[in-house]
Amino acid sequence: MTAGAFQSLYVHVPFCRGKCSYCAFYSLGESSSDARRAYLERLEQEMRQGAKNCAPLQSVFFGGGTPSALAAAELNQLAGLVKGCFALAPDCEWTVEANPESMDEEKIALLAEHGVNRLSFGVQSFSPSLRRTIGRRGSPESVGEWLSAARQHGIQRCNLDFIYAIPGQTLSDWEADLRQAVALEPTHLSTYALTIEEGTRLAGQVSPASDDVFLDMWDAADAILGAAGFQRYEISNFALAGEECRHNVGVWQGGTYLGCGPSAVSFDGAGRSANPSDLTAWLNRAPPVRETLPAHEQAAEILAFGMRRTVGWQWQDFQQRTGCDARQLRGDALARLAKRGLLTSDASGARPTRQGMLFNDDVIMELL
Ligand code: SF4
Repeated sequence: MTAGAFQSLYVHVPFCRGKCSYCAFYSLGESSSDARRAYLERLEQEMRQGAKNCAPLQSVFFGGGTPSALAAAELNQLAGLVKGCFALAPDCEWTVEANPESMDEEKIALLAEHGVNRLSFGVQSFSPSLRRTIGRRGSPESVGEWLSAARQHGIQRCNLDFIYAIPGQTLSDWEADLRQAVALEPTHLSTYALTIEEGTRLAGQVSPASDDVFLDMWDAADAILGAAGFQRYEISNFALAGEECRHNVGVWQGGTYLGCGPSAVSFDGAGRSANPSDLTAWLNRAPPVRETLPAHEQAAEILAFGMRRTVGWQWQDFQQRTGCDARQLRGDALARLAKRGLLTSDASGARPTRQGMLFNDDVIMELL
């Protein structure tokens, strides 16, 4: 595989208002306005440089961290930078992540004005006690108000993020969260099983939920969200028809993306470049760490990560993306996965079974 122009842009905003105890992302719980000013200045340089290698962008994603933790004027500057530095495709999907407690109508209005057409709100749980368990600050109560405001300003596409299998969470707690989420009429829902990562405050404080609890909650999400018209299209993601996150689908399918900001990763088709996960080092222009794989290993990685999606891979699409025939590349591994009941395949392609979604690590390990 050879390097190509970037099709998408990811911007990492490393600021939050407090640090959640399960969080393993690179983010700072506190920041000064000087630090945020320096961040925006450096980001402009990085964007201007990166834009030279970009096609008109198919998608833009502001993640973090918490983009809405920026003040309205800072968010306005950031969105303006994107428009000043890059050409956007006419139907570009532009997503901004937000937390309900740091969002407001002024920010929604200015984002809509810039062309943002998708918002993603971190709710995690409506239950105050479960939020305390995972050290999630603030309150999600305003999220319904922000969804209505988004629609009024022309942003119809909204995601809500949830976490399940939280220690102490019962199946009925989870079902209540799902029902409350559906009642807000989002177009997309992300449901992540809690992972207790080394180095987070949560590690050592609690034990993970049992496999049985996890499985019951997985099935409850399929049942409740399915009844409301949502389809699971990736391990952790549900959408109404046509409302899948195009940015993430592009990443899972091996599409190219430019990453800007500390800890952001870029992928140009031939390899990855990771910015330092340290604001000061990034401000001081510490170079990204570049990792390139031999072409067949890169193609195998794209094959493996595409199996996160319920539709898996059509062989023709895989060939178009990588120039490789998946069956020549990993025919033995695909046959072993089919024998274990983790994949089904036919002449046109392969897709994960329910087991293959639940045990996706096994699918990836076999295909890499
Ligand atoms: S809001 Fe998100 S990025 Fe920020 S600390 Fe919490 S989990 Fe991490």
